[in-house]
This record gives sequence, C-alpha cells and structure tokens, in this order.
Amino acid sequence: MKETQRGKELYEKLDRREETYTIREYDKAIDQADMYYKDLTIVVNPNPLDCIIVKGGRRVLPSVERQLAHEMGHAATGFGDAPRHPLERVGPNIDKNENAVAKQLSPPEPERSVPGGYACK
Ligand SMILES: [Zn+2]
Repeated sequence: MKETQRGKELYEKLDRREETYTIREYDKAIDQADMYYKDLTIVVNPNPLDCIIVKGGRRVLPSVERQLAHEMGHAATGFGDAPRHPLERVGPNIDKNENAVAKQLSPPEPERSVPGGYACK
C-alpha cells in the first residue's frame, strides 16, 4: 500500500502528525467489527468477515492493503464513505483514498462501487 502514490501520501500525512497511530491485526476477543479505526488505532483483518461490492456488482473480500488505504484514509483526511450528492456512488474516502490505492496495487484491484460491508454469500 505504501508503494502506491496515494498510499505513500496517506502514510506520510499520518507520520507527520504529533500523535502516534497504531496499526494492528483484528482480534476477535476485543473487536466488534472486522475493521475500523478508533482511538488512533487502525485495525485490519487478514481474514475479513464481510465482502465489499466492486464495479460490476461482484462481492470480493477486501485485501489488507485495501483495508489499510480505507482506514488510513479516514484517519489522514477525515473523508467519509457516504456519497455527497446523487451523482456519486461512493463518498470521498472510498473514491480518493481506497479506490485510488486499489487501482495502483500490483496487480490492481477493482474499484469499490458501494459503501459498506456485505455478506459474501
Ligand atoms: Zn469507512
């Protein structure tokens, strides 16, 4: 994720802050959701519980790189996930942070097209 242009920018934005951000792995004994950001702690799950919906309507498990881009995106930019107007399908955090990184990963990952987590079924 740090090897992508946007991922590097997000990492550097947080690195320049006075506060220390902690990134750790999801622990089902203490965490409510499979990934989230709170108390300057970014939680990622290598075995995510929920899928995301990408372009074309496919449901895929979010990679750790994508989870990091998403949660670090919230932390670094304060952007939300909900669309801000009817022409947008996703909010600025998904568009400018998560999808920007997903596209630059090698191999690239598909763009997320709907906010939220969904059963993988
Ligand atoms: Zn989010």
